[in-house]
Amino acid sequence: MRDVLPPQSARARRLVDEFARVVEPAGYGELAVPLIEDVGVFSRLGEAGEGVSKEMYEFEDRGGRHVALRPEITAGICRSYAQHRPTPPWKVWSAGPNFRYERPQRGRFRQFDQVDLEVLGVDDPLLDVEVIALGWEFFARLGLRRVRLVVNSLGEPDDRARYVEALAAHLGDRADELAPETRQTLANNPLRVLDSKREQDQAAITAAPTIGDFYSDAAAGHFDQVRRGLDRLGIPYDVDAKLVRGLDYYRRTTFEYLAESLDSAQNAIGGGGRYDGLVEAVGGPPTPGIGLAIGVDRTLIACDDEGVFPLEPTALDAFVVDVTGGLEAAALTSELRAAGLAVDRGFDNRSMKAQMKLANRSGAAVAVIVGDDELAAGSVVVKPMYGDGEQATIPRTELISHLIDQPKVTT
Ligand code: AMP
Repeated sequence: MRDVLPPQSARARRLVDEFARVVEPAGYGELAVPLIEDVGVFSRLGEAGEGVSKEMYEFEDRGGRHVALRPEITAGICRSYAQHRPTPPWKVWSAGPNFRYERPQRGRFRQFDQVDLEVLGVDDPLLDVEVIALGWEFFARLGLRRVRLVVNSLGEPDDRARYVEALAAHLGDRADELAPETRQTLANNPLRVLDSKREQDQAAITAAPTIGDFYSDAAAGHFDQVRRGLDRLGIPYDVDAKLVRGLDYYRRTTFEYLAESLDSAQNAIGGGGRYDGLVEAVGGPPTPGIGLAIGVDRTLIACDDEGVFPLEPTALDAFVVDVTGGLEAAALTSELRAAGLAVDRGFDNRSMKAQMKLANRSGAAVAVIVGDDELAAGSVVVKPMYGDGEQATIPRTELISHLIDQPKVTT
């Protein structure tokens, strides 16, 4: 696990703020769900075999409960819906860390943040369009241009079951071509084989049957509406018949946003789809759901690679240098901050020279200097740190208006 240091940490928070600015005006309310839940909330996700469960951090708490750190946000949201029974449609968003015991690499961490959006209680394909479009808009707002949207439909559960059977038969016939790890995946969950990036598996995968041939009329109609909706909004996408989600709960629409600037192994910056049965699995009524999860860390890497959504420079209005003991700096910073100004100061009663050095490094627009003479006279010295403005002595009472009027400096 990593530390996220300033100023990067503030950038991650700004990204979450940006997400909120996109989704809240669309009717989504923020939901906070716990980081730790009963393991059953998550382990149900993994019943299809090679699921999320094996990546979980699980443990027994002091009360002997078997709990886990959440590996994703969706399951907790479904548990929350089952528990509180809000009136559908329930449109919520959430953000925060998830934990998966994966092998760390660039863009893949054991603790990583997501922003997440879920809607429970609506089956309409045009809701799928809304969810996909909000994710698309979010990436656009960050300034990302090289994002590719891929969509697919997994059909209805029956379609999917027939497809999995045909896929397993096809891959079974060619099992001797597959990598040993892939053969294991085939035994656990044939759909997951389609995710394989191993060179050796590609011929068998390319020749495999595709889900599109197994759609019922209802599933085909739903997918058609989704595509028509995206076309209508002018959102470009590719249909990728091999885009599947390995868990049994997914049905109909699936989608992923790929950052073309990232290397191919970890280039998914977000994804989602429709699911059924999750709410029931945690004790709620049958409820259709659709959701979207975006990886914060990976999206920021994509932003770096495209040179967009830069770090915001800190803009201090003033740095207080007090060589009279520090009490005056305490009062000044407090007053200036209360007036809405961004202000820092030196501590430890250091020398004028040492404090001026700090003022310089802070990037503040001005240094506000208090020496014994100023303290006695009720004044301060304001020294611009940039440009060729003159240093001035002004009454302390005029400091706030003086600073508010000065032009903003960013460094
Ligand atoms: P998932 O919940 O697996 O569908 O993941 C949704 C998004 O979360 C992915 O598209 C990634 O951007 C991000 N993500 C998933 N796992 C990790 C991880 N281990 N480290 C960083 N980001 C991740």
